[in-house]
Amino acid sequence: MTAVPLHTRVDVAIRGIRSAAPVARRGGAGPSDDGHLLLGGAGSAVPLDPTSPYEVADGRLLLDGVDTGVDVAPVSRPLFYDLLTSDGVPYEKLARLHGKDVLATTVVQTCVRYAESQRCRFCAIEAPIATGATTRVKSPAQLAEVAEAAVRLDGVRQMVMTTGTSAARDRGARHLARCVRAVKQAVPHLPVQVQCEPPADLDVLQELKDAGADAIGIHVESLDDAVRARWMPGKSTVPLTEYDAAWREAVRVFGWNRVSTYLLVGLGEDPDELVAGAARLAAMGVYPFVVPFRPLAGTLAAGEAAPDPALVADVTARVAEALRAEGMRAADQRAGCAACGACSALSAAGA
Ligand code: SF4
Repeated sequence: MTAVPLHTRVDVAIRGIRSAAPVARRGGAGPSDDGHLLLGGAGSAVPLDPTSPYEVADGRLLLDGVDTGVDVAPVSRPLFYDLLTSDGVPYEKLARLHGKDVLATTVVQTCVRYAESQRCRFCAIEAPIATGATTRVKSPAQLAEVAEAAVRLDGVRQMVMTTGTSAARDRGARHLARCVRAVKQAVPHLPVQVQCEPPADLDVLQELKDAGADAIGIHVESLDDAVRARWMPGKSTVPLTEYDAAWREAVRVFGWNRVSTYLLVGLGEDPDELVAGAARLAAMGVYPFVVPFRPLAGTLAAGEAAPDPALVADVTARVAEALRAEGMRAADQRAGCAACGACSALSAAGA
């Protein structure tokens, strides 16, 4: 398998591929909305775009018809998608395959911040409820069933559980803890990452750990308050000091490099400040997972300009350097987006 050059990985992440993919999703939590492919053997979440200059022919990635030297293979549709829970819900509506071997679910598909004036402009968490692609709330028992089958039938190696934010002080973390406990009872060796906003009551982080979570993502998306106010009007009411306190407590509870955060590139922040902030996070044991912003259909940001690939490549390369300097490896997260890597170009930058 060929290594994917950083500039190609970034360009594909932004401009997409003219291709179909058996494993894909439309809408949902956070900034991702893609087909899942293997690029140079690595699981990669890539926009499927009929106008892209990239296409696939005979298992190779072509740019304007010219072979880039990068191998491409589709991720096959997993067998667990065709099963139903004992209460009659298709597994496919409860959890999805991400990358090549990650099981991902949104345990509560609604968000207290989803009013149009409050919503994160890059997010479409509630959209799949309207299309019937998923259910509002996943029960612990349903997720345990799906996880067991996904491991047994499709070789899933880790699980990511995210949640929309609730109005309660735990911000949805207690339902995550119940889901983790049930999954760990069914498949004790499956590493699980949970993702939530900083809980007002930080003791809930210990509850998540005690339930069996191996890692946690507390996603800030930007460290620039002006950018936060513009892109995340509701979420930016949680001050960065609360994120800082939650990250520190999470590192104490889960351990160094078992905590991560998303940083989106292309929201208008100063690139040097973004890189410096990522380096500060790495130094405190929090993995800064840098991902290019994409103006997805179904979000409030649809139609806005995608970031310049040169900017994304530059920031990604510099954050990868900061991660190497701290000895912070994505695989050591054990579970979660950093361990998966499909939505970022960090692995192509040597992180
Ligand atoms: S990086 Fe996270 S959101 Fe992206 S495919 Fe992997 S698990 Fe899913």
